[in-house]
Amino acid sequence: MKKLFAGVAFLLIIVPYSLGAEFWGSKNSNKYHYPDCKWAQKIKPDNLVKFKSPEDAIKASYIPCKVCKPPMPSSK
Ligand SMILES: [Zn+2]
Repeated sequence: MKKLFAGVAFLLIIVPYSLGAEFWGSKNSNKYHYPDCKWAQKIKPDNLVKFKSPEDAIKASYIPCKVCKPPMPSSK
């Protein structure tokens, strides 16, 4: 039973984290967002651009959204 509990705990902690390791932008703007940002939710599927990391978004000339404040690589 302990192994089962560890497996469930693993799923609860790791799965949401990995799902969140993505940033969304729109072809109609130059901002990138957390997927759960209210502005990201408004992006139409046709215009959705997904980035695996803030670095990818910055390279594509996108800037962080001021509402959801996604991480910015250049601050390092
Ligand atoms: Zn946002």
